[in-house]
Amino acid sequence: MADSIEYLVYPADPAGHYFDVTLKISVPATQGQVLALPAWIPGSYMVRDFARNLVLIHATSDGMPVELQKLDKQTWRAAPVSSALTLAYRVYAWDLSVRAAHLDQNRGYFNGPSVFLRVVGKEDQPSAVTLLRPAAGCGANWRVATTLSPWSTDQDGFGRYLAPDYETLIDHPVEMSDWTEIEFSVAGVPHAMVITGRHSCDAVRLSRDLARVCAQHVELFGGGLPLTRYLFLTLAVGDGYGGLEHRDCCSLLCTREDLPSTDMDQPSEGYRRFLGLCSHEYFHLWNVKRIQPARLIGADLTREVHTTLLWAFEGITSYYDDLALVRSGCIDRQAYLELLAQTISRVMRGPGRLKQSISDSSFDAWTKYYKQDENAPNAIVSYYAKGSLAAFGLDMHLRECSADRVNLDDLMRELWRRHGETGVGVPEDGFQALAGELVGADLGDFFAQAVYGTADLPLADWLARVGVGMRLRPATKPDDPGGFCEHPDAKPAPVRRVLGARFRAAGELVELIQVFEGGAAHAAGLSAGDRLVAVDGLQVQAETLPQRIARAIGPAPLRVHALRRDELLTFDLTPQPAPDDTCDLWFIEEQVLTPLQRARRRAWLGAGA
Ligand code: ZN
Repeated sequence: MADSIEYLVYPADPAGHYFDVTLKISVPATQGQVLALPAWIPGSYMVRDFARNLVLIHATSDGMPVELQKLDKQTWRAAPVSSALTLAYRVYAWDLSVRAAHLDQNRGYFNGPSVFLRVVGKEDQPSAVTLLRPAAGCGANWRVATTLSPWSTDQDGFGRYLAPDYETLIDHPVEMSDWTEIEFSVAGVPHAMVITGRHSCDAVRLSRDLARVCAQHVELFGGGLPLTRYLFLTLAVGDGYGGLEHRDCCSLLCTREDLPSTDMDQPSEGYRRFLGLCSHEYFHLWNVKRIQPARLIGADLTREVHTTLLWAFEGITSYYDDLALVRSGCIDRQAYLELLAQTISRVMRGPGRLKQSISDSSFDAWTKYYKQDENAPNAIVSYYAKGSLAAFGLDMHLRECSADRVNLDDLMRELWRRHGETGVGVPEDGFQALAGELVGADLGDFFAQAVYGTADLPLADWLARVGVGMRLRPATKPDDPGGFCEHPDAKPAPVRRVLGARFRAAGELVELIQVFEGGAAHAAGLSAGDRLVAVDGLQVQAETLPQRIARAIGPAPLRVHALRRDELLTFDLTPQPAPDDTCDLWFIEEQVLTPLQRARRRAWLGAGA
């Protein structure tokens, strides 16, 4: 009997959000076949326990029931049988994110870790997947979009697909719906974006811009593409954002408004963000999907797997996602500085940056970055945001200590050559060692500061090397993110006093969401979750609270009444001057730059700028 593994996925109950899955194992393990569902999906470092959505599992062989013993939260063992073993189970699919599975009357979507039980001991064997159309009521106009290898499919893509091993099987999400498709070519390789959901996207512009951004990354990695087809799977909704990388595709979630419209001239903020997301996930096809941390190769998907390198795999990717937009000419150089300034402001606003390094943030991603609570800004730093600034610093540092012979692009190309093309994982000290090798210097001090340290980065120095000026100033209003500034204003802004907390309207009251360590609210004893009733005996509202605080310049503290749970408490609040946590960036005028700064700026932003 041929040793085969056959899955069948059927959108059995779109209204109830159930996929029915059957798994037939022709030669099950003689001592009883063990089956397990992953606890997490590669690229998203949190235990999600996908098995919690699996219901009504049973096993048969030769038409007779087979006993299934549950070994732990996600593992089963079938009693030994002498012929083929068939598992049948339902998967509840009602998660709109890019990480799990979703099924309703409009759409079916799944990631492998949510639906495919792993046949323990046979992970290296090929398997087949048959995708069925829903029986009735919906799905008549559905088509399948996936980068799984088709074996025999109908004109809509339903039918049989093959995967060479389990890791590959779960790295190709599947979309079934009435999607629209935008096609383009990069380096001779067909690319497409499939968009599900109602939208009125300017397909011409989107395909043109995507082709430019992708070509930029292809060029950075040496001009070739290690695949024969790439697919962006996009879901456009009213509100949502997210992305997840795979080797040959990515899943994206965006708002309809983020997609470009035909009346758009300069890219809107939303479109810039969407292009940045596409750019980010595409860069991952090299950085993390093929240039992999050694610790994540063949990772155990039943539990957390720790690496200190997410700052490099996510931070460097975050650095290049926006940089590719300006290098490819999709945004202008002012818009790029605006994005960079906003990233700096985001990092500067978290007191946690002074407590946790990006190396530690990487290691603890599972329980900290991915499980953020109200205290997160005080306790942790983002290995995305600060990681992208460290990547920028590394780029500047490599240029500086190699007399501009080496930059971060060269490091990425060398990583591709040594680790991507070979499949050899990057050891925990791999980025530092290789960067040092390329410039012939010990980069220990740089890494101690930027990667393992918690002091603020010398950003103004790094930026000056490419002719960019920087200042940190107080925010002028609560949602002031900083940005590009044409003419830096030398005169200091009037002192504005602030609460030192994020808040939102909660009915008639104002609820504190986060209280920043060392700020006025913290000093007064207020906590996240407290609902402010009155300030100085007068009711407060979310819209007017910043002004009320800003105007309190007298020596006496403000009396604040707030509800904590159902108890009314009073606090004495002394508003503090707004901290210098908002970044402005500008281009230093050409005529005052040194020739080196001028040349570096051109090399950094590329010909497109
Ligand atoms: Zn990423």
